[in-house]
Amino acid sequence: MLISDLKKPCTECEGSGYIAGLDEWGTIQINLRQSCHVCSGRGYNLTELGQDLWKLYKPMVQNLISEALQNKSE
Ligand SMILES: [Zn+2]
Repeated sequence: MLISDLKKPCTECEGSGYIAGLDEWGTIQINLRQSCHVCSGRGYNLTELGQDLWKLYKPMVQNLISEALQNKSE
């Protein structure tokens, strides 16, 4: 299984995670990069397979995170 089976570059922002500034609105706006609304700024989207796997592993990952946080606070 390849990582490309699980996620694919966002076509909306071409993998950058940001929507390009609105050039026609003037110089100030060019520097304001907005997070892509399709991929939430990640630059990629999960494929169906990726989403299924994430659903499967998410509870485990959350357990690991909470355990790690508990160990840290002790
Ligand atoms: Zn995007």
